[in-house]
Amino acid sequence: GVSLHSLTKAFGDVVAVAELNLEVHSGEFFSMLGPSGSGKTTVLRMIAGFEDATSGTIELDGVDVTRMAPFDRNVNTVFQDYALFPHLTIAENVGYGLRVRKMAKSETAERVERALQQVRLADTADRLPHQLSGGQRQRIALARALILQPSVLLLDEPLGALDKQLREEMQVELKQIQREVGITFIFVTHDQEEALTLSDRIAVFNNGRIEQVGTPNEVYEFPQTAFVAGFLGISN
Ligand code: ATP
Repeated sequence: GVSLHSLTKAFGDVVAVAELNLEVHSGEFFSMLGPSGSGKTTVLRMIAGFEDATSGTIELDGVDVTRMAPFDRNVNTVFQDYALFPHLTIAENVGYGLRVRKMAKSETAERVERALQQVRLADTADRLPHQLSGGQRQRIALARALILQPSVLLLDEPLGALDKQLREEMQVELKQIQREVGITFIFVTHDQEEALTLSDRIAVFNNGRIEQVGTPNEVYEFPQTAFVAGFLGISN
């Protein structure tokens, strides 16, 4: 799992994340939900190591990774824009992380095949990214992250670029894939419905702080603050 202790990030005078404490359990589908600018992406980037914490610590499976380089952390990130290489085949895209780590060709090929099966796109190996649909490209980005067998997968609004119908289909897919591979997913979204549908637990962010952490049922039925109630659109 992931433990954040008093995690803080300031950009000059702007405190993007303030003294955050959070435990994400192993194997959990965990969502960070909140409005634009509430600090979700900054937390994700600090866990990934793309952004240094101003203060506080980050533990991954009991190891303090706060000062470790991104490459040395057992995490991987899926971005909204997929960031696939347009001139590489699907198989080459998926295997990229293993190639830069100098894994043997035969093992790379085996793992690419398995990762493509996990996202149910084994038949697309020889195609180029532009020959796939948006939803398929999203699943390829997922396969490329899963192939490194991270302990934690970070997903920053991964469905944000998809239209509504595809987005709903992908939500179901994402949940199934997470169950099958059994790794921890930390999912950033500003879409309350998406968070409520997908998550084992949700942290509701506001202004660099967490207002409430709980199961979808807990945050929806028993919002602890007016902000949580308002953001989840609960009127009473
Ligand atoms: P969104 O859903 O729009 O991505 P968010 O909840 O992920 O929003 P962050 O991107 O983490 O929010 O931003 C939190 C705050 O930190 C905002 O006030 C933002 O303007 C500020 N911020 C983020 N990155 C930087 C940066 N590199 N330099 C200065 N300020 C930043």
